[in-house]
Parts: sequence; structure tokens; C-alpha cells
Amino acid sequence: MARAPRDATREGSQEAVPRVTELLKKLGLTRDWDLLLHVPQRYRDESTLTAIGDLVPGEEAQVQAVVHDCRVIARGRRQLVATLRDASGELVVRLLHFFPSHQTLLAPGQRVRAMGLVRGGWAGVEMVHPQLRAVAEKLPLPDTLTPVYPSTQGLPQAWIRRRMDALLASRAMTDTLPADLRSEMALPELAPVLRFIHHPPLQADAQAIAERRHPIWERLKFDELLAQQLALRMARQKRQTRAAPAASTDPDRTELAGRLLDLLPFSLTGAQRRVWREVERDLGAAVPMNRLVQGDVGSGKTVIAALAAARAIESGWQAALMAPTELLAEQHFRRIDEWLAPLGVRAAWLTGRLRAAQRHSALEALRDGDARLAIGTHALVQEEVRFERLGLAIVDEQHRFGVMQRLALRDPGFAPHLLMLTATPIPRTLAMTYLADLDVSVIDQLPPGRKPVATRLVAARRRPEVLQKIRSEVAAGRQAYWICPLIEEGKDTEASAATRVYEHIQASLPGLRIALLHGSLAPARRSAMMQAFEQGLVDVLVATTVVEVGVDVPNASVMVIEDAERFGLATLHQLRGRIGRGTQRGACVLLYEEPLSDAARQRLKIVYESNDGFEIARQDLKLRGPGELLGARQWGMPLLRFADLERDQQLVERARQTASELLLRDAQAARRHVQRWLPQAGEFLDA
Ligand code: ADP
Ligand code: MG
Repeated sequence: MARAPRDATREGSQEAVPRVTELLKKLGLTRDWDLLLHVPQRYRDESTLTAIGDLVPGEEAQVQAVVHDCRVIARGRRQLVATLRDASGELVVRLLHFFPSHQTLLAPGQRVRAMGLVRGGWAGVEMVHPQLRAVAEKLPLPDTLTPVYPSTQGLPQAWIRRRMDALLASRAMTDTLPADLRSEMALPELAPVLRFIHHPPLQADAQAIAERRHPIWERLKFDELLAQQLALRMARQKRQTRAAPAASTDPDRTELAGRLLDLLPFSLTGAQRRVWREVERDLGAAVPMNRLVQGDVGSGKTVIAALAAARAIESGWQAALMAPTELLAEQHFRRIDEWLAPLGVRAAWLTGRLRAAQRHSALEALRDGDARLAIGTHALVQEEVRFERLGLAIVDEQHRFGVMQRLALRDPGFAPHLLMLTATPIPRTLAMTYLADLDVSVIDQLPPGRKPVATRLVAARRRPEVLQKIRSEVAAGRQAYWICPLIEEGKDTEASAATRVYEHIQASLPGLRIALLHGSLAPARRSAMMQAFEQGLVDVLVATTVVEVGVDVPNASVMVIEDAERFGLATLHQLRGRIGRGTQRGACVLLYEEPLSDAARQRLKIVYESNDGFEIARQDLKLRGPGELLGARQWGMPLLRFADLERDQQLVERARQTASELLLRDAQAARRHVQRWLPQAGEFLDA
């Protein structure tokens, strides 16, 4: 008890400071500016005093009174109990944790102010752990609302307030926006806005401020959005100053992509042709491509990747394709190798689980340029991987990757073209902001002959009928996925739950070839299993969501998903996208446990009624609210703290305009602004 970490009476004494730095760091506050943006979570009105006789139990109030009596009571839990008196009555103050300094503060005869929740005790009114302060001589009452800051144990409110007040009066408050621009955009000055937020006038709507709906917030939200817009533009500008590996457009040298097109067992859909033209044009340009190809599951994004790789390779560059999982990387490798090997292109395969010798030879082939194409997982972005002449980096399902990995894939010397593929639809507002830096192509058409997957909602007790359906599909030469339920954390392991399902299916479908695939299997075993399924050596693949992303086995026509109500809609749609890839109609059975809640039924109905990933995402957005569906984090961009992309759409638009203006007029100010708001932005500004 020698130390006084929770001692509210010590208003940030000297010795507390080094520790305070640590505590602030814990709250993520390292710079003065971080602290200024550490805004109150609520406010208290400490501007008035209530006579003890007028206290109302259940309400918060402040009294000023003289300590009449103070004792440590050791009955039960040790506590400090003081009696305060003013002309109108008596108040008990009870401290369950206390320090010697509290006893000094509450020594009989001391005049104190106590602010807290009034409780009706058996012997009159009392306050438990009120905020206490000594009233020496004259202590004026505040004439603004008193902020209550989010804090951490050991960091007293009083300390934060004092430090904040010092900052609010200091040079840390400089406005990064030039005055002329500010007045053109009708934006208030920064300093008064911050002062208002930290110390609102007594009559202000404290709740609206705390909830960030008060108009005073506009400036900070605007600044935040502006920083984001600026960062994106600066990243783009920076990239465009770099030399890009322009692909050859000489018809005599562009035979590889053309030959690949001839070789494909299908012709491109109209949407694929359009997207390929867009990619092709980017590849031929002298600025690095930064393009996202968006297309629903099964729309045929892989072939676009293969064509782009072929174009880069025939122009003398190397290409790299990164996939989010081993499973998918391996499938890409086999598929693309099958397409490109006959054309004389050597591809290297790189994942984390290669043996040293294999790894060594893959690395060597990439460094020497013998291998023109690298396909793998994030192992591709590791330090030791060197390319002879990397011209194109392709990232499949890029929302699974952090921005760092994406960037690491780029050579420091110049910027290779970057192509990203995703099946995740992007809400418009997000596309406008986070992705303002990207060009987007959409494959909005499925290959011909695809019949939409028929989705059924089936109660788990009807499992026998489902098993019968699987038997008949297999008898007709087709294959099935059986997706295991998601595991509630701590209850079970994924592997053991999957094994139970597997054993059950095996017992229920004698004579069928059944395999089990889950994340805890050794990677070699996993890939052997997947290959066997692809080659038709397995009839039913019991699997966890490891098959969610990208796996392509056209002969698989049925998918059963256990406890479907537990899955997210996007996941269900992704999973379902694994079937109906061939020409026969696919069936997806969503098994659910009864009783199904209304909310769950409503969600499943969305997947049941639509086969369109964009529509599902829209509905999902409606149910869940924005922000959750596609976390900005997935896109590797810092999240917004104050602004809300949906609610503050008009501000987004203004921030976009201002960003262009500011960059033209005062690039220095623009940089300062980004540094202030997004200190971590350096990472992508240097891209
Ligand atoms: P995704 O967009 O989900 O990555 P894939 O690239 O895996 O889709 O393609 C899905 C399936 O459709 C693959 O079997 C692929 O060979 C096939 N495919 C792609 N484009 C066409 C097309 N134009 N015509 C017919 N089949 C196609
Ligand atoms: Mg894919």
C-alpha cells in the first residue's frame, strides 16, 4: 500500500510521470496529438453544489462539506468511512480501497468536495468512492462540463485533465489546414473545436457530444477523412512516379497469351474478355497497374490471372501469384502449370512447407530467371525470395492479406504491376474511400451452361434423406462435400468435431469412398486428400471451411453444410460457390438444428433466395449494419475512428475534393496532415 496508483487525491505528482508514459502507451497514446484526440467518453456537470439535505438517491451530485469524523472500520471488509456535514445535513462517504493520503484528505475538520452517485443508506445518504478533492481557501467551480476520459488502472482522471489542459493551451494545437482553404470549405478552426470537445459549455448537449453526433464533430471527422483521402492519393502518386514493367504490345512478341487463349477448353465470357482487355491495357502502360478484379465465385478469375502472367512473361518479365491458403495455391499451381507448361513456361512452387532442397532450387530458379512464374502462399513475400525480373504480382483473394504482405511483394527498386482478385463484393462507399487508390474491373457474368445452385433448408432430423441424395449423386458419378459445423470456442477442437462427423458419414454411407479434410492435418496429407478428391478417387469429402476459398472441383455437385445457421452469409455463399461449377446443376443443403431462431431463419433465407454474391452482401449489410461486413482492416487500411462512411457520406465527398485542392496548393501541409492523423501511413506512402 506504499504506492498510491489509484489514489485520486494526488493530482499527478512529479514522481508519477515515467510510469504515466507507460500507462499512456497502453492506451495507444504516444504523441501529444494522440492525447488531444483522446476524447472524453462522457461529461459531468461539476459546476454546481447541492446541499446535503437536498441530495436525491440515485442521482449524481456534488457537495461541499466539512469532515466531521473519519474511521477505518475493520468489520468484514476493511473500509474507510467518513461523515461529512454541511448546514443542511450529514453524508457518509465510504471508501473500500483507500490509501493513507485519503485519511489525510478526510481528516476531521477538512473541507472537501465530493462528487458521486447518491445512495440511500440505512442511516441516511451516502456516496461510495466519490471523486474527492480538498477545498483549500477558494476553489472556483468549473464553468464548463468536466470531461471523463477513457483511462486505465493507475492513470487518474485528474492527471489526464491537467495534461490535456496544458496541451489545449499549447502549440500542439496548430491547424494543418491553411486558413484560406478552411474558409472556402466553411470549416471551423481546429483549436476551438478541440477545446469545445474537451470542455463543452455547461448548456451543451453532453450526450450528443459524447456520442459524436453533435455538429462540433464535423471538423474532426472531416480531418480524419481528409487524411485518408490524402494518404491514398499520395500512395498513388508515388507509385505512378515509378518505372513500370510495361508489357510488350508488339504483335510478334505477344504470342503466349494468345496461344493460351487458343489452348483453353472454353472461350472467355464477354465479361472476362472485357476485364482481360482492361488488364491488358494496364500491363502495357508505363505506370504500374493497381487493379482489383472482382467477380463472384465461379466467374472465372483464375484465367484472367493466367493470361496476365502469360503477357508479362512473354514480355520478358517474371510473374508471381500469391494465394491465401496452401490448398488454393497448390490448386492454382497445378491448373496454371497445366495451361502454361505446354507453352514452355516454367513455374516454381513456393510454400512454407517445402523441404530445404526443394525450396533452395525454387529460390534459385526464381533468382536466375529460369522459372518465369512463381505460385505460392505468403512464403512468396519472404525476405529471401528474389526475382530476376519481377514484372507482375497477382494476389488472389487479397482481402485475406495485410497491406504489408501485399507491399512486400513489390520490389524496392521499382513497382511491378499489381493485380488483385476477389470474390468479396465491395460496398460503394468503401470503394469510394478505401479503394480510391485502386482501379476496379468486375466480371459480372458466369460462364455459360452454369445452372444456379439449388439451395435447400433442411432440418437436421431429416439427415437420412440427405444421405440418400448423396448416395444417388455418387451413383450418377458425381461427388459431394460435407461441411462440418463451426466450433464454439473452448468447447471442442475443430479436428475432433470434424472427425466425429466423418465417422458418422462413413458409418451411414457404407461402400462410398470418404475422406476427411481439416486444418490440423499435416499439409502433405491435406493436399493428397484434395488431389484424390479432384481426381475422383474420393466420393465424399468431409471438410471444414478450409475449402471455402477458391477450390475448384467441377465434378462436385452436392454440398451439405451442417449447422448452417452458425455460418456467416458470406462464408455460406463462398462455400456454396464450390459446387455447380461443372455443367450439372448443383445442390446445396443447409442443415439446421431445430428450433431455428427468427433471426437465423431470416439470415438463411437470404442465402436460400439468392445466388448473387452482391445481393447477399447487400442484404447482409442491411441486417448487420455497415462496417462489419467488410472490415476496412481486411483491406489493409487503417480504420476510421470518428467518421462513419455511411452516415458521413457528404463529408467523404467534401474530403475528396479538398484532398485534391490541398495537394495542388500546399503539398507540405498535406503531408503534415497525414502525418498527424495516420502516423502509420508512412508504410504505404513509401510503397
Ligand atoms: P473464380 O472466379 O471463383 O476464381 P475460377 O477461375 O476457379 O473461378 O473458375 C471456375 C471454373 O470455371 C473453373 O473450372 C474454370 O476453368 C471455369 N471457367 C472459367 N472461365 C470459363 C469460361 N469462360 N467458360 C467455361 N468455363 C470457365
Ligand atoms: Mg478463385
